[in-house]
Amino acid sequence: VAACLSRIEATEPRIKAILTLTAETALERAKAMDAAGPDAGKRLWGVPVLIKDAICVADAPTTCASKILENFVPFYDAACIAKLRDAGAIILGKANMDEFAMGSSTENSAFKVTANPWDTSRVPGGSSGGSAAAVASGQCFAALGTDTGGSIRQPAAFCGTLGIKPTYGRVSRYGLVAYGSSLDQIGPLTRNAADAAAMLTVISGHDPRDSTSAPREVPDFEAAIAEAKDLTGLTIGLPDEYWGEGVDEEVRAACRSAVDTAQKLGANVVPVSLPHTPYAVATYYIVAMAEASSNLARFDGVRYGYRAPDANSLEELYELSRSRGFGHEVKRRIVIGTYVLSAGYYDAYYRKAAQVRRLIRQDFLDAFTKCDVICGPTSPFAAFPIGQMSGDPLKMYLSDIFTISLNLAGLPGLSMPVGLGKDSHMPIGMQLFGPAFDETTILRTAKVLG
Ligand code: GLN
Repeated sequence: VAACLSRIEATEPRIKAILTLTAETALERAKAMDAAGPDAGKRLWGVPVLIKDAICVADAPTTCASKILENFVPFYDAACIAKLRDAGAIILGKANMDEFAMGSSTENSAFKVTANPWDTSRVPGGSSGGSAAAVASGQCFAALGTDTGGSIRQPAAFCGTLGIKPTYGRVSRYGLVAYGSSLDQIGPLTRNAADAAAMLTVISGHDPRDSTSAPREVPDFEAAIAEAKDLTGLTIGLPDEYWGEGVDEEVRAACRSAVDTAQKLGANVVPVSLPHTPYAVATYYIVAMAEASSNLARFDGVRYGYRAPDANSLEELYELSRSRGFGHEVKRRIVIGTYVLSAGYYDAYYRKAAQVRRLIRQDFLDAFTKCDVICGPTSPFAAFPIGQMSGDPLKMYLSDIFTISLNLAGLPGLSMPVGLGKDSHMPIGMQLFGPAFDETTILRTAKVLG
């Protein structure tokens, strides 16, 4: 803990990954644990971790990087936080993010812009950019992020770390501030597959407080991949739609060479198709914005966070609190989300999106009849300069093309580092997708390839 805190002190002025540092509490806990002695029964005994600021940690601010929650301090731990604590992990603080997890660069935070540790003039990705930058710069050994449409995998790719989005329902969302409830999943960002497997084993499991939590056995992912040495018998599917036009040459080259390595290690590589991929961005942004507009209705100036002190009526209280509390991107999404759910438009937009979502899921189910793992780039390009895309939301949305289908389908996927791009010299990430509740196979593949 002391080593991480001194690393934070040295790097944080440039990286700006952290919104709240709970150094004293962490040190006290570490000292108490030292005094009691190591506990082999606790898988994460003494491991320092950082938590995305969308996840409630008791007695620490949970702001979602939004002014509307600036002074909100939850009195309870999210389910995954209680599990981390039980396993002996030590929480160092809360990591920066795009406001309410809306974004792909962490530039939408109301408080600070996080820098990519590999090149501080570039973004760390988003929305879990603080978590990814913290792991990449050695501020902690693991971090939690959330992934609604790529927010764990894309920042992991941009910062050269590993990030896994578990199957929908694998990790309880109790205590996570909701963005798109049917898409959100919590997952770890780590330095390698073994650490991700340990973290995932701890945070997974059924929770009656989240009605979408799956009553499934949780394998010991860490033990399941510990002995993995080669990829004999594994069939990797390469979807045409992820390897063609629109992908930077350096990204394709780095991912291709990882696939070549997989082949040398015994994997069989086959072409597959995810034909509805061109509709994924439109579908995702209708579903996500609709759900966000509904979830964010609770921030009304009455129940949580910022309340306009100068309002003269109830309506003015809502109006002033929400217009001052939410940032631009959040407002844009509330407006569009409300529009697509409104009477007369629901059938044209939301219902249609729900139907296309079903087709996107079916693409994956069909592909998994031909392969065990689906593989492609995480992002069409490496980390871009801060400010380059912030004025062009549509361009930013389009950059999510390779990550969002997985959330629409509810399936597990990870991004692993596959080297530096030959032009940008920035980290490149490659994704591995698996069938529902088979996180083991993608973690094992990443471990062998890593
Ligand atoms: N970039 C996507 C969005 O802005 C995904 C964000 C996320 O996964 N939270 O919605």
